[in-house]
Amino acid sequence: MTRRCAFCGFVTDDHTIELCPTHFAPLAAAPSGTLRLAFHDGTVVEVPAGEEVRLGRDPDWSERAGWLSAFPRVSRRHATVGLRANGTAWILPEEGTANGTYLDGHRVEPGRSAPLPNGSLLRLSSQLSAQITIDPGE
Ligand SMILES: [Zn+2]
Repeated sequence: MTRRCAFCGFVTDDHTIELCPTHFAPLAAAPSGTLRLAFHDGTVVEVPAGEEVRLGRDPDWSERAGWLSAFPRVSRRHATVGLRANGTAWILPEEGTANGTYLDGHRVEPGRSAPLPNGSLLRLSSQLSAQITIDPGE
């Protein structure tokens, strides 16, 4: 099992190491698993457990803005997706986004996070869809 230092992010799979070599702090189990969004244009966005990714065309807000600029109906700040350490995924459409976010055809209300189930189909505006896969990891 992967463990890590809460102070510096040091990660190890070596079970003989009990303390962070820098901080001499006990290592704790690292969250595992990956949220995978397979978009219909072939782009795959992967979100490691405990992290989140912002999806939108605003380069000051989303690291994916370069790719998403090809889809003008996707909002500049459209939605954030994340995977909790416990393996459940979520989506939060931005408040005030004019372009809808849909899960299996149902609109997700902006400003409120909703569960992102394994196997569901996510749609950002009418232009972009993604198949959701949650890999539980170890
Ligand atoms: Zn450390």
